[in-house]
Amino acid sequence: MTSESPWSQLGLSPQILELIEKAGYKQPTSVQSQAIPLVREGFDVLVSSQTGSGKTASFVIPTVERFQGKNGTYILALSPTREIAQQTGAVFETFGAPLGLRTVVCIGGASIPVEKEALASSPHIIVATPGRLCDHLERGNVWLDFIQCLIFDEADRMLDMGFAKQIDIITEQIPKERQTLMFSATFAPKVEKLARSVMRDPKEVTIEKTVESAPKIDQRLYWLDEGKKMSALMRLAREETGTIIIFAKSKERVFQVWRALHDKADDVIYIHSDLAQEQREAAIAEFKSGRYRILVATDVMGRGIDVDDVAHVLNYDVPREAEDYIHRIGRTGRRGKTGMATTFAIPGKDDAGIRAIEKIRGITNERSEEARKNDQRPQRNNRPNERRPDADHQQRHRGPRPARERLETPKTVAPNPVMSPPADILVEKQSGIGFLDWFKKIFS
Ligand code: AMP
Repeated sequence: MTSESPWSQLGLSPQILELIEKAGYKQPTSVQSQAIPLVREGFDVLVSSQTGSGKTASFVIPTVERFQGKNGTYILALSPTREIAQQTGAVFETFGAPLGLRTVVCIGGASIPVEKEALASSPHIIVATPGRLCDHLERGNVWLDFIQCLIFDEADRMLDMGFAKQIDIITEQIPKERQTLMFSATFAPKVEKLARSVMRDPKEVTIEKTVESAPKIDQRLYWLDEGKKMSALMRLAREETGTIIIFAKSKERVFQVWRALHDKADDVIYIHSDLAQEQREAAIAEFKSGRYRILVATDVMGRGIDVDDVAHVLNYDVPREAEDYIHRIGRTGRRGKTGMATTFAIPGKDDAGIRAIEKIRGITNERSEEARKNDQRPQRNNRPNERRPDADHQQRHRGPRPARERLETPKTVAPNPVMSPPADILVEKQSGIGFLDWFKKIFS
């Protein structure tokens, strides 16, 4: 790495710079250039960031460098889901192992005795989901007295998942003299409350919008009745030739959607919490490898999927929490690519959910009230086949589609599954306001 490399400006050791080069990270992302120097200096740091921003390396790189050479378990990273914990563990391995640091990942679904043994070997770093770590604490398999750096990854999500109590139990057992780093996509009041209780005078980092990092997501909202969703889904799956993640509200719905698609094509897979850990990992790996083009998932499962090139996110059901909308559509439009996000909403049933999404995005509701009235009226011009994804998008995401059966056109086309365009959401598209602007609005 040359001395002109932007990485060299961050004051990192030559050994770390070499590892960064090996990882292929040409230049630091925005969150990395802002957070790394603060973490290296030992400050508590509160970071607004989302998956895909490079946030994991922004806490892994400076912490392994900072605590290198010490004995004992001194870094604890808490992750909301097993998949995120595993990904974080892998990044700690990449940068920590060459420095002689051992990482243990503790997650629900894995073997308790195996984890117990790994914990007994005094690893330098523990990455865990809060529930599983509490389990080990209760069994006396682990002590946290040595921890000097506590990391909350996706804090909002952990709280949304009901981990507040476990977080309390864990933080009580960690020395007060420590560094605390907190990463969160949103700063909801409960996140601020947690930050106030566990952090000391934190430095705040908010990722500025940059051309490369701002996800470009073309968002569409279709108002349609429950009975029309399936045919609209079939149409979308047929017209979109790139990869698709479909979010549904429950395990049953995931299975229902999967089964309907699977009847037509064999490149569809699903994940939900009834599947064993290995099955989920295999499903995600096969989706990433391109063996499967369409993945159907619940929110919790979808959260941990780190795939570079998802062309389209479909919210088959409006998410229960508005924040989930942000997390869901963040699966597409990553790393400078454009993505599509389509939401199916049921008039009358999902109005409040859509309003909450509009609110979290900082969009006023004046036009949407009018749009909602229009939504109820049949409008021939807004059929889904007349709102095809733009050719550019198709071109960019058209991968080497495996030669297998494609979805058939439904024989009977729903008379009018798509209602008026979502004025509020299209306003965002027309005015060119980026996805990150929503985040800024949430934070302000
Ligand atoms: P994260 O936001 O931590 O989930 O990271 C998203 C993806 O970005 C991961 O696949 C990382 O390997 C990758 N990544 C992180 N930092 C960089 C960087 N500076 N340059 C290129 N890729 C990166």
